[in-house]
Amino acid sequence: MNILIMGPAGSGKGTMSAKIVDKYQIPHISTGDMFRENISNGTFLGLTAKKYMDQGLLVPDEITIQMVEKRLLKADCRIGYLLDGFPRTLAQAKALDEITKNIGRPVESVINLTIDFDQLAQRITGRRLCKGCDSIYHIKNNPSKVSNICDVCGSQLYQRSDDTVEQLTVRIEEYERSTKLVLEYFSSEGLVFDVNASQAMNDVFNDIDKALVKI
Ligand code: AMP
Repeated sequence: MNILIMGPAGSGKGTMSAKIVDKYQIPHISTGDMFRENISNGTFLGLTAKKYMDQGLLVPDEITIQMVEKRLLKADCRIGYLLDGFPRTLAQAKALDEITKNIGRPVESVINLTIDFDQLAQRITGRRLCKGCDSIYHIKNNPSKVSNICDVCGSQLYQRSDDTVEQLTVRIEEYERSTKLVLEYFSSEGLVFDVNASQAMNDVFNDIDKALVKI
């Protein structure tokens, strides 16, 4: 199964990706997570990406495409992939088309999560992540049992430095401007499946699954 999941920050991409991966057992490739991992490991790639991420801007295509290509060439992607947060620009979409055709795994479906700004702002500012296992919480909608401690692994929770309303506004504008072309690109191939991400978590996943079972 070769699929993409798209949607603005806070639309539930991370949560839905975990459910898809759990059901279909394909590797989850999140470019945001890859950049954050590089930042915490202090790599050159991480240092470069951080400059853009801290401003809510996209990391340049050349860097991002190279990172994804390297990842897709790994053995675990022979059974497919779930790409999350990539492609975000037309150049990335075209590069992905070429890479995935070369490895014999062309994109089969694009899950597009849709949601309005106020709901996003509420989700984003309350979002907390686990330092240890990347579990996702929300201070109101999905709090951990003990404040700031992960239920799964007991590690400390943290708030992403770009999870503020100000950064969200920049990120949404950037997201919409750049992904418009990506969505048009995949729509012209008949691959885009819109899902209403304002619904309850299970309903969102059921809608996604309707598209996936057809693959
Ligand atoms: P995310 O975790 O998907 O919200 O991504 C966090 C940040 O990582 C974004 O705001 C960008 O700065 C950067 N990033 C993630 N994916 C990409 C991509 N495909 N192209 C460029 N920058 C990206």
